[in-house]
Amino acid sequence: MSALSDRINNLSESATIKMAKLGRELAAKGVDVISLSFGEPDFHTPEHIKAAAKQAMDQNFTYYTPVAGYPELRKAIANKLKTENGLDYDPSQIVVSTGAKQAIANTLLSLVNPGEEVIIPTPYWVSYSEVVKLTEGKSVFIDTTVEQNFKITPEQLEAAITPKTKLFMFSSPCNPTGSVYSKEELAGLVKVFEKHPQVYILSDEIYEHINFVDACTSIASFPSVKDRVIIINGFSKAYAMTGWRIGYSASNKEIAAANDKLQGQITSGTCSITQKAGVAACEGGLESVLEMRESFKRRRGIVYDLLKDIPGIKTNLPDGAFYFFPNVTSFFGKSFNGKTINDADELSIFLLEEAHVATVGGDSFGDPKSIRISYAAADDKLIEAMKRIKAALAKLS
Ligand code: PMP
Ligand code: GLU
Repeated sequence: MSALSDRINNLSESATIKMAKLGRELAAKGVDVISLSFGEPDFHTPEHIKAAAKQAMDQNFTYYTPVAGYPELRKAIANKLKTENGLDYDPSQIVVSTGAKQAIANTLLSLVNPGEEVIIPTPYWVSYSEVVKLTEGKSVFIDTTVEQNFKITPEQLEAAITPKTKLFMFSSPCNPTGSVYSKEELAGLVKVFEKHPQVYILSDEIYEHINFVDACTSIASFPSVKDRVIIINGFSKAYAMTGWRIGYSASNKEIAAANDKLQGQITSGTCSITQKAGVAACEGGLESVLEMRESFKRRRGIVYDLLKDIPGIKTNLPDGAFYFFPNVTSFFGKSFNGKTINDADELSIFLLEEAHVATVGGDSFGDPKSIRISYAAADDKLIEAMKRIKAALAKLS
């Protein structure tokens, strides 16, 4: 019998991290693996951000920080929310954490009681449903399809809400589909939330700057629900800072104080040097972000043209983030070398073994019909990967 808690035994390993690990292991054996599994910008952190970190170290910013972050950083984030998003937040409403991932965990643990329901549209980012498990809450999924651009309707939302609903959580731009909710679409959802004042809304906006539709609207910009919205954001994607581990929540003061209390017992806040780098990121303008966005836009075009050309793959053109989430059901039941592909996870493993391209199967994103392809990789790697995927899929019959 396992000595481990039910809590940990019931928790799944992160599928994105697992596939990245499998890809790395194969590469260590000398195989030329192209990794399109991890959602990680392939750019370096901009120089002015690195310089601020070096300076912080030299100036001995090496001690514990306030748990919710240096006041200077919380102020810089509040300014960012004002200037970039038109949103008013006091610095006391911002809690800086060890990545957006921890901001999500903080918020769920602060809000959700055992048995309460958390509504999550599918496909969703892999960690959402797993963190709900840690709270002993219950995930309630709303299914979407590639034909509806993976976005829910107000009617679907209304039908999913029950007296037990505590929270609705979503990302826009979405990981893994790249879908972006327009202002009008959000307004439709807000009308439903207005009828259900007990429901909180976790809005994961970590990909806000990686969008190809001009600008993303935050659901917090609707005054009727703002006090119930918890914005989650971070520096990993916009500033290519995945390894620095910095993200934040912006919420009402009660939830902010709860998140502060929680991480005071668990982490004591994120790294002091990282926080100083975060201030430079907030204050340094969006030039590098917009350059990266242009590259992602070009790569999206490259992958879209090549993916459309692969028989059996059904995809839409995502509006943001850096993922495609094509439907691969036409390959189910097909075989190669005596091995039959039964679902998207098996197809993803087949692509790793046969094409040496790492992707992630859709099951952990709540959609076993699709695979996720990250296009945060160099153009030539993407072209080669699509060529290999096409050749490998052609072997299935
Ligand atoms: N939300 C979404 C939708 C993500 O894709 C990720 C992955 N980086 C995160 C949150 C967490 O980001 P981080 O912890 O690196 O800030
Ligand atoms: N969020 C990224 C992804 O979806 C990084 C991996 C992770 O944090 O799970 O691949």
